[in-house]
Amino acid sequence: MELTRSKEEFRRLLADERRSGHRVGVVLTMGALHAGHVSLVAAARRRADTVAMTVFVNPLQFGEGEDLGSYPRDVETDAATAEEAGVDVLFAPQASELYPEGRPATTVVPGEIATVLEGAARPSHFVGVATVVTKLLSLAGPCLTPFGEKDYQQLLVVRRLVEDLELPAEVIACPIVREPDGVAMSSRNRRLTRSEREAAPVLYRSLLEGRRQLERTASPSAAEKAMRVVLAGQPLVDVDYAVAVDRETLRPPRKADASLRLLVAARIGATRLIDNLAAS
Ligand code: AMP
Repeated sequence: MELTRSKEEFRRLLADERRSGHRVGVVLTMGALHAGHVSLVAAARRRADTVAMTVFVNPLQFGEGEDLGSYPRDVETDAATAEEAGVDVLFAPQASELYPEGRPATTVVPGEIATVLEGAARPSHFVGVATVVTKLLSLAGPCLTPFGEKDYQQLLVVRRLVEDLELPAEVIACPIVREPDGVAMSSRNRRLTRSEREAAPVLYRSLLEGRRQLERTASPSAAEKAMRVVLAGQPLVDVDYAVAVDRETLRPPRKADASLRLLVAARIGATRLIDNLAAS
């Protein structure tokens, strides 16, 4: 595995791979790698000849008072995990490599889809995501790029971004990898105390209950109520949203036969967790 901290070298390495006729896959991450990230590498490997990964804790997507400073960072461990997972090229830049002046003068502002749920809770978050994804995919060049459904709204934002800006990337949606007790794997889980970790499965349980309720009643509001009842049973959990919405717009469904997605965000102690589930 080649490890580089230089954007020019990253660009050149992948351009060389394409010149040799190799199809390139690129997995974008913020590091603290776990089995969810490794599943994206496997998805890339199934479709590409050369698999690259980026590890970059993007300051632009963290708001005031969020966990940028405490976000777990350990490039050596990540490099070992990436190599074992079969990554060929690892790009782990310093913030100054991508943002030499601190904040860039130009940012990418995604549309409608970025204004609800996570976008409402974290107002500048998706501008940061869209800007860094645009930069990293521009450096990577033509590629396929797996994204996890774990960050479901982010997946929709990135799909639309790639389409609107004609980025030469094929976005591949990958299923959520969970712990045996149902908790969606996340770099943030490692910050939970023992009692908080024991409380965390309630998010997934609420999604399952919401889906059961939808199957029974076909009523999004009944599903949302059922999710909230489950979440309310866990006193350590402070709910941000628990919704059953149109899976494309993330808004309340306008037609009875719309396909739905259940999404939940909640704070457990100092840690904010998100999870989601297809309605059927
Ligand atoms: P992050 O490092 O949290 O920014 O995530 C990088 C990529 O890994 C994103 O596409 C995430 O959606 C994806 N990802 C994170 N956790 C999981 C998971 N538990 N299952 C599947 N994909 C995941």
